[in-house]
Amino acid sequence: MKICKTVKEVRNTLQNSRSKGQSIGFVPTMGALHQGHLKLVEASKENCDLTVTSIFVNPTQFNNADDLSNYPKTIDEDSEKLMTTGCDILFLPDVKEMYLSKPQLRIGFDGIAEQLEGSFRPGHFDGVGLVVSKLFNIIQPDQAFFGQKDLQQFFIVKALVDHLNYSIQLRMVPTVRESNGLAMSSRNMRLSEKERKEAGLIYKALGIGQKSLLNSSDIQAVKKEVKELFDTSERLGLEYFEIISTDDFKPTESLFNKEKIALCIAVNIGQVRLIDNLMLIS
Ligand code: AMP
Repeated sequence: MKICKTVKEVRNTLQNSRSKGQSIGFVPTMGALHQGHLKLVEASKENCDLTVTSIFVNPTQFNNADDLSNYPKTIDEDSEKLMTTGCDILFLPDVKEMYLSKPQLRIGFDGIAEQLEGSFRPGHFDGVGLVVSKLFNIIQPDQAFFGQKDLQQFFIVKALVDHLNYSIQLRMVPTVRESNGLAMSSRNMRLSEKERKEAGLIYKALGIGQKSLLNSSDIQAVKKEVKELFDTSERLGLEYFEIISTDDFKPTESLFNKEKIALCIAVNIGQVRLIDNLMLIS
């Protein structure tokens, strides 16, 4: 696996492959890699000739300075895992390489970026949009792979691709989970053993909500039922649980378009914030 730390280096390397007609798959990450990330790399390997993974902890998408400084960094383990998975190129820029100086450009989203994650993390999706569009311009992949775990992010990137006319095929990869159902996340590293166990309630609650909704179609009753599951938990604080349509990520009042309905949740455990989701029909 080749490690490129500069834009120039990765561009030159890819130019070579492109001239041979090889298709390029791209997996953007913030590192602290786990099986979820590696699943994206595997998907890219299955679908493209060459796989590029980026590791960049993007400061512009953090609205909380502590969250940014506490974000785990495990670069040696990460490159080992990528190598074993068969990633071809690791793009590993530093902040100066990506932003030159202070960012002088912003991308602003309306609509879905104001809902759920956007409303609890102001500016988050603008930061995601900026870094993803920069990475797309640098790598110019044929396909890019994102996890369903960050469902709203996937639709933000889809809006970016549609509205800025990127010629990139987006692929969504299903969420990889621990044995108790907890969605794998780099932030799980900051949980104690006990917290990790209790966090299994997040996926359990989504499953209960999904089943009740399919049985009763009573949106308000299901929201109440799921919220009550967290009332008795000492460690888990429910930030939101919403039943939305992926058209606009607003709480939905009807289940008319069942295949677009998703159950989305955010939970705080101590200083760690976790998100998860389940499509109604999954
Ligand atoms: P991150 O490093 O958290 O920015 O995530 C990089 C990519 O990995 C994003 O597309 C995430 O949605 C995806 N991802 C993170 N966790 C998982 C998971 N448990 N299963 C599948 N994909 C994931």
